[in-house]
Amino acid sequence: MSFSDLGLLPELLRAVQEKGYSAPTPIQAGTIPAILAGRDVLAGAQTGTGKTAAFVLPILQRLTQDAAHGAHPAPRALVLTPTRELAAQIADNATGYGRYLKLRSAVVFGGVGINPQIDQLRRGCDLLIATPGRLLDLSEQGALNLSRVSCFVLDEADRMLDMGFIHAIRRVLKLLPAQRQNLMFSATYSEDIRALAQRFLHDPVNVEVTSRNSTAERVTQSLYRVPKESKRHLLAHLINEGNWQQVLVFTRTKHGANRLAKQLESAGINSAAIHGNKSQAARVRALADFKSLRVTALVATEVAARGIDIKELPHVVNYELPNVPEDYVHRIGRTARAGASGAAVSLVSPDEEPLLRDIERLLKRPIEATAVPAFPILNMPAEPDRGPPREMHRDRGGGNGNRGGRGGPRRPQQGQGQRPQQGQGQRQERALGSPARTAAPQDGQRHSAHRHAEPRGSRPAGAPRGEAGRGFGGDRRGPRTQSERGGGANSGWRRA
Ligand code: AMP
Repeated sequence: MSFSDLGLLPELLRAVQEKGYSAPTPIQAGTIPAILAGRDVLAGAQTGTGKTAAFVLPILQRLTQDAAHGAHPAPRALVLTPTRELAAQIADNATGYGRYLKLRSAVVFGGVGINPQIDQLRRGCDLLIATPGRLLDLSEQGALNLSRVSCFVLDEADRMLDMGFIHAIRRVLKLLPAQRQNLMFSATYSEDIRALAQRFLHDPVNVEVTSRNSTAERVTQSLYRVPKESKRHLLAHLINEGNWQQVLVFTRTKHGANRLAKQLESAGINSAAIHGNKSQAARVRALADFKSLRVTALVATEVAARGIDIKELPHVVNYELPNVPEDYVHRIGRTARAGASGAAVSLVSPDEEPLLRDIERLLKRPIEATAVPAFPILNMPAEPDRGPPREMHRDRGGGNGNRGGRGGPRRPQQGQGQRPQQGQGQRQERALGSPARTAAPQDGQRHSAHRHAEPRGSRPAGAPRGEAGRGFGGDRRGPRTQSERGGGANSGWRRA
């Protein structure tokens, strides 16, 4: 099947062609004709399947063909999505796909000034992409008229519920006209998701491209059983030995993300943390540096990582297993996107075994355990003590990656947290953390470990190191990605 078989306008076909897509993905082939026909759609697809184009392309077409086109400043299509990053990325995609159409888009999300968004909405847009909180704020302030929305998209619905947006969704639904088309996308289907779908979808076309709750087939999954206090050393070793250029690392807490980014930095690996406590500017910058390979390891909490769209992201590491097994599926969905293959590695400490069992139960198969290689103990700040994850596991609500962060970061002990000096051996001979069944390092390994113990990053010696991911010499004012440019209040392909 080709895109021209789907009944899309020539302007959209041209834009898609320029994106380099040769054929529609299964979710696109399944949803585009149904959406063009005006049907409601319930789509089971995770990020990476091409789901954004699956709804953006037909919506742009329907907006163009709509007789009322251009008559009113109020949006005619609304996409509700859980995170700012995802909102900015959808807006970016809409800009790209709609470049040959005369439509206007806007994107609104929290964490940035509301006034430019109010001005933007006053000028008018056809398609509005929003996160729930800011959308409701704007509506309450009388800056937003949703009475003309004829197409409503609930994107990443499962994530929305995990993040506690159910009440916000209900409030948004009340603001929409009764007569409208509804599209709902969700990576996983729970009872709550079904109930939500029943509430607002009318006779939906069901499209499911991955079997329910299954992980992307192309992702190679493996795990290392390793004590908690050894994880950072093993991770640094995997990055160095594998010469990984781009790895997304998941931690359970914001503190944990900050701490690990600093630990990896001190091992000479360019790192940045991304989580909800970071300013929008810091998040955008970290993402841009990661995309441009200036940052090797992006350490993220669950929510912050949602919707990060990086083509062919080769490595995802679960530094800590998620409390909710479905989150494992979301996490590893960051790799092997749209036809690329990828690898997901989990570092599992003994106290995480119950979480692992839950994940394997969901996957309906075990994840292959890999023998832990010998790895050098680098000079990295120590882990603080933390409570067992089982306790957090019981708390299944929220899923905001910010639970159980007891203890917080411990102050580096003397001599720790220092950036390794070039040429100075980082390898301490005590076999700290090397599990018993680890083979003794071979000579070759020893040498390569030693070689890689030198800082890999571009930070010149003596350069200051401040917040994780900052201050390592790279020019932060370099060119920004399209996604970043779209990260502001407005991403119109024709500025309103
Ligand atoms: P999404 O699932 O919407 O986040 O899309 C994942 C990635 O797939 C994005 O980088 C898209 O640009 C890309 N993509 C979307 N549709 C196609 C297609 N038909 N062929 C190749 N890549 C695509």
